[in-house]
Amino acid sequence: MARFHTLFENAAAELLDEQRAKCESSLLEEVSAVLARIAEHASENGMEAFAQLADGTYGFCLDCHHEIPADLLDAVSFAVRCAPCERLRNAELTSRPDIEDHAPQLTLQ
Ligand SMILES: [Zn+2]
Repeated sequence: MARFHTLFENAAAELLDEQRAKCESSLLEEVSAVLARIAEHASENGMEAFAQLADGTYGFCLDCHHEIPADLLDAVSFAVRCAPCERLRNAELTSRPDIEDHAPQLTLQ
């Protein structure tokens, strides 16, 4: 009986390890996709911020042309839009079906 109990425990532990590995792998892929999107976004904004530095418009919103608050630039030095314009842009981007199809969904299975 003790041997059966050990076999059962080992099988259960093995199954649990397999499930955990699947979950971790899936979660890792999803997190990697989100990080890639963040890096891409930061890189795009970084390039735009460099262009603004070059043409002397750094610190002004690309969309409404108002000055970006200093505390936002302190926190996100590559910010190229004020907070309301950035929110509006993100809302527009996520509402586009062609982009939404590729947006990673963070879900636990
Ligand atoms: Zn703005």
